[in-house]
Amino acid sequence: MSDFYSLAGAFKNIFKTTKDECPIHHKPMIEAPRVGKICPLCEKEKLDNAEKEMVRKIYEDNARKTLLRKSLVDDPATYACTFDSYIVKNATLEANLRQQARLIAGQYLKCPDAKFNTILSGPPGVGKTHLAMAILNAINDNAHPPQKCVFMNVVSLFMQLRASFDDSTSWWTEKNVERFLKDVDLVVIDDLGSESAMSGNARDATQFVQTILYNITNSQRRIIFTTNLTQNQLVKTYNSKVVSRILRGTKGHILNFNGIKDKRIEAF
Ligand SMILES: [Zn+2]
Repeated sequence: MSDFYSLAGAFKNIFKTTKDECPIHHKPMIEAPRVGKICPLCEKEKLDNAEKEMVRKIYEDNARKTLLRKSLVDDPATYACTFDSYIVKNATLEANLRQQARLIAGQYLKCPDAKFNTILSGPPGVGKTHLAMAILNAINDNAHPPQKCVFMNVVSLFMQLRASFDDSTSWWTEKNVERFLKDVDLVVIDDLGSESAMSGNARDATQFVQTILYNITNSQRRIIFTTNLTQNQLVKTYNSKVVSRILRGTKGHILNFNGIKDKRIEAF
């Protein structure tokens, strides 16, 4: 800043050093045309803070955009799923599940370091995917500092991974996916089990699927799974190492949707 004073000296007809002192920096204030008396050090701090604030905002915006940029959904309408759009009647099983999902969202939101998985299990069409996305949206919108959230439909994920074998330009390599999912703050793995049903040998995941699921569940400790599989089917589908990692921290974090009518049929 001494540079500024020498500069001000060179332009002493424009910038006049005054006898007043900045109460913070105890340096002479400068009289500038149209601006009045300013402390160059205070002005520099204001600029530095504005720059820091801008960088922080860009970082936060980017973190929040992860959900839209990197997720794989079956249906883009899934992005709009919130707790409010999960319509329930009072004192029903649905109302109870929505409340449980809200509480779990609150735990992930308030404790970014809390490591536990959540399982939403039950038959197709009962709103598991809806509530899983609702949890992500609530955290993505409300976390300060932001938490990077991502939603992965498991069939789409494995299709991308397989397609990357023959496409050297694809981002969706095993290495990239595993590193990315390790580094985000919260992951939804949607429809766990359907990837194995698709592989032909139903109810028996291939080695490829097992290895990738192991790597993901081993390095990421905050995963919300939705699945049509019961716990018994889960044990039959995956090897014990994968199962034990899927179940980590799920005590008190399992939402059972059995007994709910198919919401897609109900809508007609
Ligand atoms: Zn000052």
